[in-house]
Amino acid sequence: MYHSRSIRMRIALPFVILIVAATAGLALYLSHYFREAYLETLETRLLADLRVVGDLLPAQLAEEASGSNDLDAAARHYSNLLGARLTFIAADGAVLGESDHDRSTMESHLYRPEIQQALDRGSGSSIRYSVTARTEIIYVAFALEEAAAPVRIARLALPLAEVQAELARLNRTILSTAVIAATLAVALALLIASRTTSPVRHLTAMAQQVAAGNLDARLLPTTQDEVGQLTRAFNIMAENLQDKLNALTTEQSRSSSILDHMADGVLVLDVDGGVQMLNPAAARIFDVAPEATLGSTFSALVRHHRLIELWLRCQRTQQEQQEAVEIDHGKGTRRCRFLQVIITPQQTPSAPGYIVIVQDLTRIRRLETIRRDFISNVSHELRTPLASLSALVETLQDGALEDPTMAQRFLNHMERELATMTQIVEELLELSRIESNRAPFFMQSTPIATLVAVPVDRMLPQVKRAGLTLAVELPDALAPVLADAERIQQVLTNLLHNAIKFTPSGGTITVSAHGEADKVIIAVRDTGVGIAEEELSRIFERFYKADRARSSGGTGLGLAIAKHIIQAHRGQIWVESVEGRGSTFYFSLPTAQM
Ligand code: ADP
Repeated sequence: MYHSRSIRMRIALPFVILIVAATAGLALYLSHYFREAYLETLETRLLADLRVVGDLLPAQLAEEASGSNDLDAAARHYSNLLGARLTFIAADGAVLGESDHDRSTMESHLYRPEIQQALDRGSGSSIRYSVTARTEIIYVAFALEEAAAPVRIARLALPLAEVQAELARLNRTILSTAVIAATLAVALALLIASRTTSPVRHLTAMAQQVAAGNLDARLLPTTQDEVGQLTRAFNIMAENLQDKLNALTTEQSRSSSILDHMADGVLVLDVDGGVQMLNPAAARIFDVAPEATLGSTFSALVRHHRLIELWLRCQRTQQEQQEAVEIDHGKGTRRCRFLQVIITPQQTPSAPGYIVIVQDLTRIRRLETIRRDFISNVSHELRTPLASLSALVETLQDGALEDPTMAQRFLNHMERELATMTQIVEELLELSRIESNRAPFFMQSTPIATLVAVPVDRMLPQVKRAGLTLAVELPDALAPVLADAERIQQVLTNLLHNAIKFTPSGGTITVSAHGEADKVIIAVRDTGVGIAEEELSRIFERFYKADRARSSGGTGLGLAIAKHIIQAHRGQIWVESVEGRGSTFYFSLPTAQM
């Protein structure tokens, strides 16, 4: 508001000053001009009168007997006729005749300006203020002909009071006209200035709105002039600004959602290593609360000397640095992480700093280890039967073939080794088929009794042979489960097989089941050797055999296959065991939807 008024004033003020000055000047000039014109006319008239007096005076002097008193009378006479004071003056300045005053008190008039002028050039005039008359008086003097001697100069004097009153009236008229004209002109100037600046004022208001963040503010251009163009340009600018802002907001929310959901940790550091931003993944990897990192530094956040060195190196060289490190947050090996960290300097002048990308390779590392272990396990498992096969073949070649009973024994042995290898390969194939989802599952609603009956019947001879007791405890009202019957039977066969294998004769094996909310849990309990606590978590791994010396001929793949089959049913498998007292294997299956 202040600015727009200022512009209006800046436009109006010079005009106002100009107008007032011009009017005042004109008024002064007119007033002066009228006074001068008036006085000139007056002077001309008085001079004409004096000429007439000068013409008539010699005749009158000749007519009457000459005497000094007569000139007074003559002066009075003409004075009456002309309506002005008349004085006759001698060449030496002495007053010879006077119409209005007592001549005897009057001094020489020789040095009055009008007298001097008249002596010089024939006529003269002067305006002087008279203290006695309290007004300005105009004196007009005229040099007479020789014939009028002794009178040399006739002078008329007229008070200007009346003239002045007249001029004052005129001045007043001029002044009031000037004031009215100036007022009108000023008002007009202000109006025009206001009209000219009003679009600018509106534009300013709009600009202020835009500046305050209201990007919807628009103005309809009302004129075609520069202001109209400015308004249009301004609208376009606001439009562009809004578009840019929208695009930016979209872009920002997109990238922030990418940052929020990406698996890699991302940190933005300022030039001194202060953490300006970190995404949830980074917070997770470094085990910190995202809020707690505000104002923290990279070094304080990572607490790892190699990462701090990496960061210092990047700061020093201003070049991308990367490093793979293993960090342990000190709360046990399970929290140990294997990280790949890349620090890149950002050279953007507006926001210099560093971007840190943290890839958590822990899982990949673990998978790699598992793969490596797997290969070494497979090789290991195959090496034993292969070694014994090659030894048997060698023995046969060395002569055992000649002895038929020996040869028969060796061949039987070779057959067993081959059977073991075949089982390993088949189980591996089965496992890989299940893992890669290539083995189709035929899920259907199946009663628990059906699932349990087949493996129990199948294993009963073995149970008896091992001198064990097998109990089956199934409640009557069990919901059917959604399962591929053949696979679950395979799992149960496997569990029973293990139970038989690891339970000394005289023990008991119990198969039971109970229903829970939306699943049924089946348990196979034995009273066998049990599993050591530190091994519980590992027995479902491929090729894992607890206490290898004790395990008899197994491949270590049975439980791994069972686990995959149960997982494919969206169930879980787990074990509880006390070493020396026995083990219980549980698995759950979802009930079939009615
Ligand atoms: P395997 O073919 O060797 O039996 P599994 O995967 O079936 O392989 O079992 C892995 C290991 O788990 C076995 O070697 C054994 O040490 C342990 N185990 C499995 N079942 C039992 C059980 N019922 N009692 C004791 N240990 C068991």
